[in-house]
Amino acid sequence: MKDLSLLLLMCAALSNTLPIHPEKDSKEEDVKLVQDYLNKFYAVEPDPNQLGWKINAESTAEKLQKMQQFFGLKVTGKPDTETLEIMKKPRCGVPDVGLYGVTLPGWKKTKLTYRIVNHTPDMSKEDVDKAIQKAFKLWSTVTPLIFTRIHEGIADIMIAFGTKAHGRCPRYFDGPLGILAHAFPPGNGFGGDVHFDDDEDWTTGFNLFLVAAHEFGHALGLSHSNDQRALMFPNYAYISPSEFPLSPDDISGIQSIYGE
Ligand SMILES: [Zn+2]
Ligand SMILES: [Zn+2]
Repeated sequence: MKDLSLLLLMCAALSNTLPIHPEKDSKEEDVKLVQDYLNKFYAVEPDPNQLGWKINAESTAEKLQKMQQFFGLKVTGKPDTETLEIMKKPRCGVPDVGLYGVTLPGWKKTKLTYRIVNHTPDMSKEDVDKAIQKAFKLWSTVTPLIFTRIHEGIADIMIAFGTKAHGRCPRYFDGPLGILAHAFPPGNGFGGDVHFDDDEDWTTGFNLFLVAAHEFGHALGLSHSNDQRALMFPNYAYISPSEFPLSPDDISGIQSIYGE
């Protein structure tokens, strides 16, 4: 609450210097956007004891600085135009500070199973299956990992499409745009599972293959990279499907967990 009132004060100070009032509404929206974004992606730090995350004690300005540093922006600690632009881009729902590729172990085996629990109505089942298979192949090409699809029971990597509150998942989806998908690091239960927001348009809007490949990186133990060319950059890259989307950064990351 303290952080929020500080931000509100900052914005009040800003709007006082602006003579035109229609700006006010968008300023309030920006304050909400900044607060939501930092809460979602910069409020936690890795907690190796619980194999997960814990809330960090940083102020809003400190979180903003961390976010600006991560995205290679000018580190002002203030929600400037450049920062707001980045915050409005569609992205992955996994926080940017959970370095679990380093602090949490990967899978203790190289043979992993996956199951496609349901399909999106946006694409044909065959196209969904193909995109998923292609995305796994990227990672198996550069590691000893082998992925096998199963059609019933519990797989290591359970793949599902859902909207808003979905299944028993502890995380929510936010409707069109914003967060497109999320994944859980290796482990039991939700560990390794990958969920796609079915409020997105998977046919024309977003390339399922690329988003799936990114999320599978998380399911295998990788965290977000601040290398803008990396597949593991939090904002999905828009590259031609014919290109090989793994960057040297992605490959060295995954090979540091599983070997070549
Ligand atoms: Zn991600
Ligand atoms: Zn979920």
